[in-house]
Amino acid sequence: MVPQWDLLDLLADEAAREPSFHLRMDTAATGFLVEGGRVRGVHHRTADGTTGTLRATLTVACDGRGSLARRLPELRLERFPCPMDAWWFRLPRHADDPSGLVGGIGDRFFTALIDRDDYWQCAALIPKGTDAERRAEGLERFMTRFAEAAPWLADRSDAVTSWDEVKLLDVRLDRLRRWHRPGLLCIGDAAHAMSPVGGIGINLAVQDAVAAARHLVRPLREGTLGLNDVRRVQYRRWPTTVATQRLQRLAHAQVFEPLLAGRTAFGDPARAKRMTELVTESRWLNRVPAYFIGYGALRERPPAESLR
Ligand SMILES: Cc1cc2nc3c(=O)[nH]c(=O)nc-3n(C[C@H](O)[C@H](O)[C@H](O)COP(=O)(O)OP(=O)(O)OC[C@H]3O[C@@H](n4cnc5c(N)ncnc54)[C@H](O)[C@@H]3O)c2cc1C
Repeated sequence: MVPQWDLLDLLADEAAREPSFHLRMDTAATGFLVEGGRVRGVHHRTADGTTGTLRATLTVACDGRGSLARRLPELRLERFPCPMDAWWFRLPRHADDPSGLVGGIGDRFFTALIDRDDYWQCAALIPKGTDAERRAEGLERFMTRFAEAAPWLADRSDAVTSWDEVKLLDVRLDRLRRWHRPGLLCIGDAAHAMSPVGGIGINLAVQDAVAAARHLVRPLREGTLGLNDVRRVQYRRWPTTVATQRLQRLAHAQVFEPLLAGRTAFGDPARAKRMTELVTESRWLNRVPAYFIGYGALRERPPAESLR
């Protein structure tokens, strides 16, 4: 069975009713259309400078952590401290390399390598705000330190030839206290930017979209959409978001902050080793984080009526 979203049909219907609107990938929303205190759609501009307005029954802000909605003070953005930023880059992967997710600890940085079949998506966590200072030390120095943390990758550390290939992720952990106002709903990173710990930002964003579909398709189709329907999406997604962010904040404080400051995580290397072994070697403890990462604290299922 191929899932197809009625919500997409609804959006397409909405767009078809707007004669000025053409679905183009270079169209950016530039602001909300607000009438009588209610969001009624967006103003937009294409890359060639053409501007227009798109009206909508409900505007869903899924425009990431730089969302236009975050400029609305009534949604109250709450920020949490982050001890690190992340550098992302790629290295070739060889057939006899380890597989899956591989971690490594270097001198005041931490690496996570994600197996992408023919390449490694490499993350190096560095102390927050030290990007410029560390880049000034030179690429060669960084790749040498990186190879010390992951010695089996040393044979290809010259694959990165320029700092342009190393992208900075300004790590943020925040959330809106309110994800909605009349006519508007925020989901995904727009509602909550996640730390890279666990690599679950995309999972939460997709789960938010599934929950939004489940709660909104019927009232949108029946023309009965009210604020309570929109509120339900936040009520449903809030516990998972808060629980995940709490775990990430705990990992920041207990693991990453001490490690990046040159102190030992958990205070004692033997204890850190015991805890790692406990989680990785216990079948049940292993499954809990896997389930949590895959499905979140509350598993979201699409409504049966949205599957054809
Ligand atoms: C370098 C990096 C690596 C990451 N790695 C991982 C990972 O391994 N695993 C993981 O789970 N998460 C990862 N994340 C986080 C993950 O990408 C996000 O949590 C996830 O993509 C959020 O999805 P989203 O749809 O809410 O927002 P986004 O994916 O940010 O999508 C927002 C979309 O809205 C568009 N947009 C923005 N502004 C406007 C506008 N004004 N008008 C119209 N369109 C607009 C953007 O172009 C974009 O297409 C990573 C993030 C970064 C930056």
